Amino acid sequence: MTSVDTTIRRITNGEAPGDVCTTDLREAPWTFDVGIPSYGPGSSMFDAIPQSSPLQGEIPLEYREASADELHRRILAAKEILGDRVLMLGHFYQRDEVVQYADYVGDSFQLAVKAKASPSAEAIVFCGVHFMAETADLLSTPEQAVILPNLAAGCSMADMADIDSVEAAWEQLEGLYGDMEAKDADGLVPVIPVTYMNSAADLKGFCGRHGGIVCTSSNAETVLEWAFARGRRVLFFPDQHLGRNTAKAMGVPLERMPMWNPRKAFGGNDAEALDEAKVILWNGFCSVHKRFTVDQIARARAEYPDVRVIVHPECPMPVVDAADSSGSTDFIVKAIQAAPAGSTFAIGTEINLVQRLAAEYPQHTIFCLDSVVCPCSTMYRIHPGYIAWALEALIGTADRPGEVLNRITVTDDVAEPARLALERMLAAKPNHTVSV
Ligand code: SF4
Repeated sequence: MTSVDTTIRRITNGEAPGDVCTTDLREAPWTFDVGIPSYGPGSSMFDAIPQSSPLQGEIPLEYREASADELHRRILAAKEILGDRVLMLGHFYQRDEVVQYADYVGDSFQLAVKAKASPSAEAIVFCGVHFMAETADLLSTPEQAVILPNLAAGCSMADMADIDSVEAAWEQLEGLYGDMEAKDADGLVPVIPVTYMNSAADLKGFCGRHGGIVCTSSNAETVLEWAFARGRRVLFFPDQHLGRNTAKAMGVPLERMPMWNPRKAFGGNDAEALDEAKVILWNGFCSVHKRFTVDQIARARAEYPDVRVIVHPECPMPVVDAADSSGSTDFIVKAIQAAPAGSTFAIGTEINLVQRLAAEYPQHTIFCLDSVVCPCSTMYRIHPGYIAWALEALIGTADRPGEVLNRITVTDDVAEPARLALERMLAAKPNHTVSV
């Protein structure tokens, strides 16, 4: 089992053609940071990047031309000089050549909590994507600077629900239900907005302002219980699959989960469907997890009769139904840790995490359900060249004082309600008594 980086190096040398979703993976991210904005190599042709997406300017030639060895030396030297002044965080889906520099590796929420627990670090270099850096900024102190080494590292799923579209949806629902804060005879308001952690800070702020809440893939059921106890129905964005898989597991029938298409009036629904809805699902998805299929699971079972198939709940419902279990990245890691030696796992989540787990747990057979190497294209935008650039800028030179590049800042008007929505999530406790 080779790492994604190794595989990409092999195809660059012409050794493994056809094993990757696109040979563009051999190019450095700055190739895609100039000209027309895009999600970069490996992204789905159906993912249209919003015009307002942050752009990354060209970084100095010395970083673009440096060899992997030189960048490695420079990053280690910069980390040594900066010491505890800088905290480096790496997401599970980040490639190994970046993760090696991280002080902590985890999912987006674990990393944001780590930022909150490290108030002495002056700067937090977040090797993940834009919404994660925003969440770290929400939870860190105002004095701390959160740095995203490449501003073009966004998330195509998060981009599928923008504040204007969600505000427009809310106005239409308001047109149907009137006062959105008025409680009915059962003490329920008409709609509770719930946003997945994988969303922009302004959507978390929207939820905070409208009695709503944030969820992660670990606590989505608890959060939906919280919301069902307060609202007649939920508007869940941006990931339809996490919403559908979670609500279905709680007993919500599919016919009570209409999809909201933001390009259509009332999301493409009639008033009756929205009246009957328990969860209105935003039409968003993760391009990485959408790649997994029931056929892949059937092939894995045919080849390894004892295989345990675990998929992420961002996968489509038929895939989650066909798997043995589904859960967050943390769930997947813990399931592998707890398994007896000699277990076989087929995993449906991002390839970098799967291949790292395969290397860390050689006592098991662990493979990705999708045999084609296709990492998260937006995570892929973080490259050691950008990390070296951001770290060396913090140090400065004899002629130039240190400076913070690519700082991610959430303005107070957004941050305050966004924190409220996050605090509601942290306070939500499972009760399993809410009827659906
Ligand atoms: S794996 Fe999917 S949800 Fe996660 S950052 Fe990449 S595109 Fe976004």
